[in-house]
Amino acid sequence: MRQIIYFDHAATTRPFPEVLEAMLPYYSASFGNPSSAYELGEESKQAVEQARNTIAATLNVEPETIYFTSGGTEADNWALRYAVNETGRKRAYEYAEGNVKWDGMSRKHAGLNQTGKWENRRPHIITTVIEHHAILRTCEALEQDGIRVTYLPVDRSGVVNLDALERAVCPETVLISVMYANNEIGTIQPVAQAARIAGRNGILFHCDAVQAYGQIPVDPKRLGIDLMSVSGHKLNGPKGIGFLYARQGIDLKPMLRGGSQEKKMRAGTENVPGIVGMAAAAEISHRILREKIYRETELRNYFFKRLLTEIPGVKINGSTQTRLPNNMNCSISGVNGGALVALLDLEGICISAASACSAGSDELSHVQLAIGNSPAEARSAIRITLGPENTREEADFAADTIRRLVKKLREAD
Ligand code: PLP
Repeated sequence: MRQIIYFDHAATTRPFPEVLEAMLPYYSASFGNPSSAYELGEESKQAVEQARNTIAATLNVEPETIYFTSGGTEADNWALRYAVNETGRKRAYEYAEGNVKWDGMSRKHAGLNQTGKWENRRPHIITTVIEHHAILRTCEALEQDGIRVTYLPVDRSGVVNLDALERAVCPETVLISVMYANNEIGTIQPVAQAARIAGRNGILFHCDAVQAYGQIPVDPKRLGIDLMSVSGHKLNGPKGIGFLYARQGIDLKPMLRGGSQEKKMRAGTENVPGIVGMAAAAEISHRILREKIYRETELRNYFFKRLLTEIPGVKINGSTQTRLPNNMNCSISGVNGGALVALLDLEGICISAASACSAGSDELSHVQLAIGNSPAEARSAIRITLGPENTREEADFAADTIRRLVKKLREAD
């Protein structure tokens, strides 16, 4: 295989060698089903529980609060659907019983009829316009089922507006979902403040921490997060594995029904190698976290500075302050981001024009438009995301190549 320089760690990451090493036995000698009664099964079961303990320790939470899923998308779907179906129902009941008081809100305003029946209420979710499609598309589907959704705007720097959040809360609000860090522009959201608003109003708070976990410290209890989604493949772990954190006391309802795996909350034979690999990646990422943040911030700033000073017409997208250490996103005037990505690929350099999930479609990035960029600026945006293995030599080579290719694209125009 040809040598590549990989600068697309927000899309996915290369598993650490130790991750593969940890996984291999569970694809070979230790292939048992964790539900089997004999020793081979017990070995797998213990590996799953050990992985749960390892992951819980990185978050300062109890192991019982971690539910393994197939990834971030499933965890996001679970959190949203759970909150609407179960918590929403409970809230409607409590409201009807008079156990929930809403300042200045009448029953009529809350959408309740005389008996306070659930059928007559439209549960309400608050989220942001810059969420990942795993959240946005689920919200769209919920809207089709009659759920009301408020999509909060962000400012030009890509940070959600908390005043708008306060104003959006109403008696029917069953969930507030705000991502930890954005997958395109890397902006870190005011999660603690948003969770406080949720808590004050007795509303569940969900956070999509897929881009944050393993990149910056994440402490759901301190932040007041009720539900949190994480994915294994963004932190040098395997694909197809992730988890939902559901704080103690949450009466979680099943995502999948069948066997009794994951305390009957997520049925299906466990992805043992994936779970073990994700835990190994989580352990390593957290062990090296401080050094990783320091190295990536330095390298990112150096790389960014080269692009900004050496290429005319480069504009940073998103805050320069509250941003993931490894994220660079900029628009390069007069250059098509997709064309630049394709030319860089020919030179063995991997970056993104938008988030990987919408790459390949002609749709403009909803994040670029949300921060007020014009369609031209959105089309000329590129995302470069660093990982622990990137070096200054790679950054220099990529910066030189980008400068050369931008010139070529501009001359061809
Ligand atoms: N949420 C965010 C913020 C993401 O960046 C991604 C993946 O890019 C997901 C959710 C989906 O995670 P997964 O790929 O594990 O389904």
